[in-house]
Amino acid sequence: MELIIASNNKDKIKEIRSILNENIKILSLNDIGFKDDIIENGNSFEENAYIKAKTIYDKYHLPVLADDSGLQVKALNGMPGIHSHRYAGENASYDDNNKLLLKNMENVKDRSASFICVMCLIIDDKTYYAKGILDGKISDKRIGDNGFGYDPYFLIDQTNTLASISSKKKNEISHRKKALIKIGEILDEYLNNVR
Ligand code: IMP
Repeated sequence: MELIIASNNKDKIKEIRSILNENIKILSLNDIGFKDDIIENGNSFEENAYIKAKTIYDKYHLPVLADDSGLQVKALNGMPGIHSHRYAGENASYDDNNKLLLKNMENVKDRSASFICVMCLIIDDKTYYAKGILDGKISDKRIGDNGFGYDPYFLIDQTNTLASISSKKKNEISHRKKALIKIGEILDEYLNNVR
């Protein structure tokens, strides 16, 4: 079977390819020639993942997987959440977003935070969701140079952030990996039923 991933992010696509059943042929948006912008104007990770998946499904009528992810900080009432990408403004860089996060966390004692990933799979007109959560704490200083986004400030234990471990290790424990494992199970069940 073919599965469109509603993304052109090479790292995401590589990660998805390595986890899902090898009988599934993975296609990116580039592979299918989709070039339009999809406006993610939902109010939750679920809504945004659905908007991406549904836009592609309606056009191609092939199985589609889309994801939406972000950082939720307890002391900031779940912010930046679905605004993670643009936390410090429309064209904010990762550094801008991290600077604002640290500023908003000044003198905050409870530094608990979670990375969330919601995946939406549409297949044969049926919609499935899977959620992955990685719990951690926000560091008050930058640690490590790997990864992207908020990784250098996301402590997974007393000393390591997601940016101070290898990308291989990150991909083993990440919120995306956890959601993807559940999607893999749904797809395996689907493949067993259609055989
Ligand atoms: P997207 O779902 O890939 O668009 O991610 C939205 C935003 O959430 C990113 O731009 C990052 O700021 C943040 N984010 C999501 N996943 C991660 C992660 O694994 N590490 C660091 N930041 C992340």
